[in-house]
Amino acid sequence: MASTLLSGSATHVGGRKNNQDSVLVSEGLFAVADGIGGFVNGDVASRLALDTLESAFATDRTAAGLLESARKANEAVWLRSNADSTSMGTTLVAVAMTSDAGTVAINVGDSRLYRLRDGSLEQLTRDHTVLAELLRSREVSDADARNHPHRHVLTRAVGVGPEVEIDLDELTSEPGDRLLLCSDGLFNAKSAEDIERLLGSDGDPQDLCDGLVEAALEADADDNVTALVLEMQ
Ligand code: MN
Repeated sequence: MASTLLSGSATHVGGRKNNQDSVLVSEGLFAVADGIGGFVNGDVASRLALDTLESAFATDRTAAGLLESARKANEAVWLRSNADSTSMGTTLVAVAMTSDAGTVAINVGDSRLYRLRDGSLEQLTRDHTVLAELLRSREVSDADARNHPHRHVLTRAVGVGPEVEIDLDELTSEPGDRLLLCSDGLFNAKSAEDIERLLGSDGDPQDLCDGLVEAALEADADDNVTALVLEMQ
């Protein structure tokens, strides 16, 4: 079981007018959130979600505490949205070192967690999008799903309702594993093969994040891009 780790993170506005992605690197808690909403609201939603997650998790570092912290993040964004009479929401992917269940991941939306182990990349989270749900349910063919008009629409997001369903997974971790949390600006711009190669490059987690974000911007600078890398030791 790996215990200590190194971390790095990078985020860039890309071709947008503002950066609606937010990133959190704190004690035993790492997260990426990609805000959705109007011009300012996406920033507010992603930052508020991560700030709420951080302060709530600090009071209960168990897996149940992590889940409750994500529920509080959902409530905070939902209440702010109602108070401001606007609509906003955010994706949320987080990895926490819990006191009772080791390394735990939670996910809502279409930001992702990948693990690079022995040179191979594996996506550990499930996307909550119309396309991903259609492919999982096999109710439609791959081709039909990929052409579905609402394929990129999120089926779950933090803060768009009073409650939210949260995926939680306990992770095994081995020394040398690299975990990547990222927003869709990265994996829409770079293929899984490219991400596998870049995440497996020489360098510390900060170098890797800088390289991943730079590569995404060179390929497609349209969306905000965020990468957070953890290396288990
Ligand atoms: Mn995005």
